[in-house]
Amino acid sequence: MYCTLCNEKDEGGIDLLGIRMCQACFTDLSTTPVFAEKYDYYREVIKVVLKNYIYERAISNPVE
Ligand SMILES: [Zn+2]
Repeated sequence: MYCTLCNEKDEGGIDLLGIRMCQACFTDLSTTPVFAEKYDYYREVIKVVLKNYIYERAISNPVE
């Protein structure tokens, strides 16, 4: 498995909403200050991930 964010080999990473994230990225993400340059990037990544996650759930569990 490879980290979804950095594509580095994922060892001891975590599974967050169906995506793989290495410890480094998770730590980076969780400690990124709001005004840091990376914040917008990560925010977009999370938005896409969440959208896909919700979409996949909607497909596998259709709401009548
Ligand atoms: Zn990573």
